[in-house]
Parts: sequence; C-alpha cells; structure tokens
Amino acid sequence: MDNPHQRLIVVSNRLPIVVSQEEDQWQIKPGSGGLVTALSPVLKQHRGLWIGWPGSGDEAPLDELFDRFSDEQQYQLHGVTLSDEEVEKYYLGFSNKTLWPLFHDLLGHCHFNEENWPCYGAVNRRFAEAIAEVSTPDDFIWVHDYQLALVGSHLRDLGIRQSLAFFLHIPFPAPDLFRRLPWKTELLRGLLDYDLIGFQTLRDRRNFVNSVLAFVPETEVLSRQRYFTLLRYNGRTLKIGHFPISIDFAQFDAAARSPEVTDAAWYLHEHLGGRQLVLGIDRLDYTKGIPERFLAFERALEKYPEIRTNLSLIQVVVPSRIDVAEYQQLKDELEGMAGRINGRFAEPGWVPIHYLYRSLDPVQLFAYYRTSEIALVTPLRDGMNLVAKEYCACSIERKGVLILSEFAGAADRLGKGALLVNPYDIEGTADAIFQAYSMAHEERLRRMGMLRAEIRRNNVYRWVGWFLAETGPHEEPQDYLA
Ligand code: UDP
Repeated sequence: MDNPHQRLIVVSNRLPIVVSQEEDQWQIKPGSGGLVTALSPVLKQHRGLWIGWPGSGDEAPLDELFDRFSDEQQYQLHGVTLSDEEVEKYYLGFSNKTLWPLFHDLLGHCHFNEENWPCYGAVNRRFAEAIAEVSTPDDFIWVHDYQLALVGSHLRDLGIRQSLAFFLHIPFPAPDLFRRLPWKTELLRGLLDYDLIGFQTLRDRRNFVNSVLAFVPETEVLSRQRYFTLLRYNGRTLKIGHFPISIDFAQFDAAARSPEVTDAAWYLHEHLGGRQLVLGIDRLDYTKGIPERFLAFERALEKYPEIRTNLSLIQVVVPSRIDVAEYQQLKDELEGMAGRINGRFAEPGWVPIHYLYRSLDPVQLFAYYRTSEIALVTPLRDGMNLVAKEYCACSIERKGVLILSEFAGAADRLGKGALLVNPYDIEGTADAIFQAYSMAHEERLRRMGMLRAEIRRNNVYRWVGWFLAETGPHEEPQDYLA
C-alpha cells in the first residue's frame, strides 16, 4: 500500500471499541488490544474505515457514538449487526467450536455441526455486502482472522476486483489435521480468492500451502521464497507470507517504568515475603494449557523441595467465553486443582498458587510483569502469544526468565532467549521451572537482554509496515525480520 491517498478498510469480527453507559451517558472508546494500537496510526493516515460487529448492547445509539468516535480518532466505524441465532451459529458455533479448536490442533474439542457452516457462510456474505456498499475501487481492503475467511470470496462474487488481503491471527493446522474439516475444500478455495494471505509463522504458512496442494490440486506453486510463497490459482497469482505480530515495545517499557507501576511492583514483592514469583496470565481457554501448567508446578514442588516456601505461582485467569459449557468446566477444573495443590503443599505464611480469576487493571498487570522473576507461558498451541512479549518488554531490570511453550508462535523468534518447553511434558516443564528458579543473575540479564532487543526491533509498527509493503505487485521480498 504505497499510495498515501488510498483509503484503508480494516475488517474484523469485532469493532475495536468499548461502549459503556455512565450515569445515563453513553461512552465510546477505542479498545486496548495490540491490533488497535498498531492500526490506528495507519488508519488515521489513510482516512481509514473499520468494519465489524459492534458486539452486544443494541440499545446504544451507535450512529451517534460512531460519529463521535470518528471526530476523536480520525477514522470511521461501520457496524455489521448479528442476530442472536447468528451469534450462536456463526460466532460461538462454527468460529469458536469448530475452527478455533481445529486450528489449535485440539481435535477432541471440535464440534462439526451441519447447521453452523451455512450460517458462517451467510454472515461472511453479510460482511462482504457491507464492505461492497461502503467501499470504492480505490480502497485497500484488509480482512482479519478466522471468523471471516470467506469474506474475500464473497467480495469477488459481488464484483469487487481490487487487491484483497487477509491475516490469520491463529495457527493453521497441518494437512492431516485440517482434512478432518468436512468443509475443508470450500474454506481453502474461499481463502484463495484473496491476493495476499499472512500467517504468524513459517510453520503456519507451510501448513496452509501444503493443505492447498493436497486439497485444491489445480493450484500451482510459482516460487518459494524465504518470506513468501507465490501460488497460481484460477488464473490469478497470490502471495502467502508470514508476519509474526508483535507489541508496542516502547509503550510497555515506558509503562513499566512509571512511578505507579514502580510502587505497585515493590508492594507485590513486599507483600509476598520477598520470594520468587512465577507468573501465568491467560484468558480462560483450553488452548492455554493451564491445567498442565499446574501439574508441572506441582511436580516441581515434589521433585525440588528446596523451592517450597521460596517460590509462588501467581496465575491470573481472565474470564472469557464463560457462556460456553466447556469454558465453565475448565474454570471449575482450575479452581479444583489450585485448591488441591495448595491443600497439599501450603505452609503457614506460604501458599504455592495464588489463583486470580479476573482481569487486572493496567498498573497491576505491568507491575506483575515487571516484578515476577519467572513467566510461565505454556499454551498447548497459540498463534503468537502477546503475554510472552509484554512480559519481556516490562522486565526492565532484565531479571525475568521466560519459560515458553515451543507451540506458541512467539517461540520462533524468542526461542533463543527463553527456556523452551513442551507443555505436554510435565516432567520437562517442572525441570525448566527449577532451572529458571536457580538461574544466575548474569544469565538472566543476558537472556532477557536478547529477548528485549528482539521485541524492541520487531515491534508491532514494523509488523503493519511489512504486511502493507507486501500488498503491492508480487515481486522480490524485502529483507524484513533481519
Ligand atoms: N490482558 C488483558 N487483561 C488482563 C490481562 C491481560 O486484556 O487482565 C491482555 C494482555 O495484555 C494481552 C492479551 O490480554 O495483550 C492476551 O493476548 P495473547 O496473545 O497472549 O492471548 P489471546 O488472549 O489473544 O489468545
């Protein structure tokens, strides 16, 4: 996207907003995620538009709030509303009970429901219609994530001919797993209507290309480069790349140095009797590997008695999708496990696991990141995992050790500085906890220095830049990720 006058249209399932009501006054604010932070400057620069579902809360005067938002933020919003049935079948159903577990390699959690697939297609069509209605042929259209894989294909049906880009924030599974999806060919063919498809890692990109070659045999590989593959399908050339998403390093680093966070970090350690802290922060989700992590922590306490009373695990679980039965069961399971392990090992003045089921305010979050000696980031599979990067950006004293699952996208670039573990290997993860606990100060400084340098350099602004730089004519790649 090299033309500064071109308008950027970003499309995602949810609009990046928080709508609330305070004393009868409706408020609208931008959300706080990394994607919003990264895209806002580009959207402002390109007179952008963001299209998505406003979420529940239909009673809010959305048109008026959107106008206010665009005056304040200098980019516009356009809402696509969903009925209760669509939320159930397209969002909670096909997106979150089929694609989400399948793409995270967790076949046992998949529901393949015949009724959800047509609804997924219909909602993707509605998004495409909304885009077609408000876009012009000069706009650049960038669609995000697994809920909207078929939007590009519907846009083509509606006669949209310009370049279309898609980024998948979650992993893409290996062909043997992907083939279980009853609608695999339709989904792949739909994706092939985009011109640029971005994945988080080389592994995801390879899995996608191999799935395409296996299930859409008329596709041809034109070239395989270090950072992208060119495919020929239906008389068109498309580019498949990998672009690991990141965070605004400077923002986290500065926040961790603020006086409020300095005080809160000091208090946390004081309050916990000066012992080492191991931090886990996750949304409530079975992909995050929290039960396995509890078992590994328990095994470390069993195997290395010297860590008892000297190390505590703070596990923050942020409520998520709690109206889905499986998530409620996971919550119950975690509470049971934390209680059991604490009952087994706690001593007067020391509790092994501090379990917090809530979201943290930013000062508390940064304070935990800054002060915890160890972070335990052990998803069974994760597209990237931003908690791992945020922890390093806030570890300004460089005393933190990152224990990271080899199945997180973040492991690709952080694998050298982190202690990599297989989260299914309870014994190995327990050993890594002990290794982190006993790590000498110099080695901590060296490893965290490497991690911070990597994230500082390959931050989220570079990510947006790389992606948009690849949207021009399909030629030789730039040497990014250097
Ligand atoms: N986070 C949050 N509230 C909290 C704790 C964390 O919003 O109380 C944020 C955290 O800062 C991070 C995000 O949640 O940006 C989690 O992103 P990640 O990529 O690790 O996992 P996801 O939840 O997207 O699967």
